[in-house]
Amino acid sequence: MSFSSGAPKFRVAICGAGIGGLVLAVTIGKFAGRDVEVDIYEAHDTITTAGVGIFVSRRTIEVIETLCLHEEISRASTNPSSSTRGSKFRKSDIPEGGFEWFSRIVRQGNPIHRQHLVDILKQHLPSSCTVHFNKRLTTYEKLSAGLLVLHFADESLENTDVLIGADGIRSSVRKTLFETIDKDLVDSSKIRYYTDPSWTGTLVYRAIFPAEKLLEMDPSNVSLGELMIVSLQESGQDGQE
Ligand SMILES: Cc1cc2nc3c(=O)[nH]c(=O)nc-3n(C[C@H](O)[C@H](O)[C@H](O)COP(=O)(O)OP(=O)(O)OC[C@H]3O[C@@H](n4cnc5c(N)ncnc54)[C@H](O)[C@@H]3O)c2cc1C
Repeated sequence: MSFSSGAPKFRVAICGAGIGGLVLAVTIGKFAGRDVEVDIYEAHDTITTAGVGIFVSRRTIEVIETLCLHEEISRASTNPSSSTRGSKFRKSDIPEGGFEWFSRIVRQGNPIHRQHLVDILKQHLPSSCTVHFNKRLTTYEKLSAGLLVLHFADESLENTDVLIGADGIRSSVRKTLFETIDKDLVDSSKIRYYTDPSWTGTLVYRAIFPAEKLLEMDPSNVSLGELMIVSLQESGQDGQE
């Protein structure tokens, strides 16, 4: 197929300018060039990131390498992969050892500040991509194959050929998809389960405190020498970290 004409072949709307939406826009720009017009609709007035650091996993590294961003991201990484074996994982009632989860399964951990990752991705957005802020998608309608109308909270409407939901855990795109899906394609009793994410009962506690404090309290604590994820077990049940 040739994409040599000046006009865009089709328009892609991405709902959500998180890491997922940005990576998709960069990917389209790299492989489809200017023939595909990309519009990112972001609910907030800026690209925000929840949380601080992020570990870049094996699969993610493959994507980053394909996008030729590996060197740039490694440079911005707080702890380049060559200098760490990654964290160990062990249950709290086992004082010694631990499973080298990151180095075995995830490849060596490569933590990066989320804002640095976002900044790199923003720099690589293609010129055919426009980010629209303060655009919270509420729903969409499919008028015909390849023609979707997007509805926003500010009551504006936009057209697109393809819509991709990158709008996170409470995705409006996913909600609309399942609420309007052909009833023969999905068990209708499960639709609520797909559209309204609910708490599974698993908790993850996270806290940051200075290493010097731990040194005072417990000088031989294993976490002082290496990165360790500890899983607490309560009432004989797994799942508490
Ligand atoms: C505590 C914690 C630690 C984690 N650590 C890691 C880690 O170390 N490594 C790792 O790989 N992953 C980690 N994750 C998972 C990772 O953060 C997420 O998978 C990733 O951020 C999801 O990105 P996303 O772009 O899909 O969604 P999000 O980051 O949720 O972005 C969604 C975007 O869509 C926008 N949006 C939402 N609704 C609408 C709407 N209706 N209209 C328009 N815009 C909308 C939001 O404002 C947001 O900008 C962690 C997650 C948590 C909670």
